[in-house]
Amino acid sequence: MREQALGKVSMDKLVSLCKRRGYIFPSSEIYGGLGACYDYGPLGVELKNNVKACWWRAVVQERDDMVGLDASILMHPQTWVASGHVDGFADPLVDCKQCRKRWRADDVKDGKCPECGGDLTEPRMFNLMFKTFVGPVEEDAATVYLRPETAQGIFLNFANVMDTARKKLPFGIAQIGKAFRNEVTTGNFIFRTREFEMMEIEYFVKPGSEEEWFKRWGEERFDWYIDLGIKKENLRLRQHTKDELAHYARDCYDIEYLFPMGWSELEGIANRTDFDLRQHASSSGKDLSYYDEESKERIIPYVIEPSAGVDRSVLAFLADAYDEEQDKEGIRVVLRLHPALAPIKVAVLPLSRNEALLPLSEEIYADLRCCWMAQYDDAQSIGRRYRRQDEIGTPFCVTIDFQSLEDRQVTIRERDSMKQLRVPIDVLKTTLEAKLSGESIDTLPPGGSYWLGFSD
Ligand code: ATP
Repeated sequence: MREQALGKVSMDKLVSLCKRRGYIFPSSEIYGGLGACYDYGPLGVELKNNVKACWWRAVVQERDDMVGLDASILMHPQTWVASGHVDGFADPLVDCKQCRKRWRADDVKDGKCPECGGDLTEPRMFNLMFKTFVGPVEEDAATVYLRPETAQGIFLNFANVMDTARKKLPFGIAQIGKAFRNEVTTGNFIFRTREFEMMEIEYFVKPGSEEEWFKRWGEERFDWYIDLGIKKENLRLRQHTKDELAHYARDCYDIEYLFPMGWSELEGIANRTDFDLRQHASSSGKDLSYYDEESKERIIPYVIEPSAGVDRSVLAFLADAYDEEQDKEGIRVVLRLHPALAPIKVAVLPLSRNEALLPLSEEIYADLRCCWMAQYDDAQSIGRRYRRQDEIGTPFCVTIDFQSLEDRQVTIRERDSMKQLRVPIDVLKTTLEAKLSGESIDTLPPGGSYWLGFSD
């Protein structure tokens, strides 16, 4: 059994919030769903896009030693022979002789079925790659695979990128894209699904410097989650034991997160050595070496691979942000998402539906939505509307009242502290910009003041 995550939000609560608020829905729900496939709703797609944008910014935009790539999902089938996936990308499977349930052998402890205690069959290897066919004839010669990782698209383009991006070692290539695995055991919501998205880096280094880069990437990636608000006590680095290592890896760290079901892998950082480039060079007959001007030699770089799951990151960010607190009206549910990740950055809330408030409220909404994802809501009491925005993680609400029509000032209400400021409309955008970038709510803008607040 996995260590239980005491004091954490339960998976059921997260699933229900995601469904209720439009973050994540079961796939093909009107037909009864499809095992371990999920769809991202209006808020989910924003959160997911924000996770990917933050990653891209950190690993490509802000670095001189990284470039991006977007390779196709379908690749020449020889790719997967050379990479070792046709032979090696398999899980050992056992079946229960009694209830017929199928398990990954490494999920079973004492040789008995975890569900009914029945006897199990001997383990059989089961390849996780999905097959499909190119063209109209379903024959072996036309078989291609849906990629189970994005990494191979990077290795196959190594020479193309090296020739065109004119990078010297060490340098890396980053890619975000879908991957597919015919997983045997799924479950735990979007933690392990059959179709998912990966954010992968292949970082090419001179042989001999791989240990140093392995360590540096481990730290960099760990800090990325912390910078985006994951609590330090919920994150840890765990080194793989020898028998856990994938067929291509010499060493591997998992960044683990304390998910609702316990500590589990969020991202893997592997030392893939020169395995993949060598395999593809020998299998394709193409030169995939690098000319090192210092030593005047051709070398095959070593590779450090930080490989993260977009969906698992989304789950971790949601689980970490979820909070409940008691208030006078009951339980306040708050998603304390980092502003960079929050799907909606600001909600515009006229105090009432009174027509007098409409023109100014619409003007402000039109102005803000040019800068950020914004929402306009004038239904129900202001307190209810604040609660709804808290539950979807919106960092700031802007409230327009009758006094605003006189003094051209509005109220900014912060999600976490529920503090309210009164600010001139002229400085609303710059104030929100500063607050979304991390400025304290207690820093008053010119002409701003504290506000006792509308009933919250
Ligand atoms: P696990 O054993 O937990 O399924 P793995 O060790 O097979 O994961 P890797 O091959 O290291 O995973 O993949 C890199 C990352 O891709 C993982 O850390 C995870 O975030 C994500 N990932 C892998 N498989 C899945 C999946 N089936 N569903 C969602 N995300 C996945």
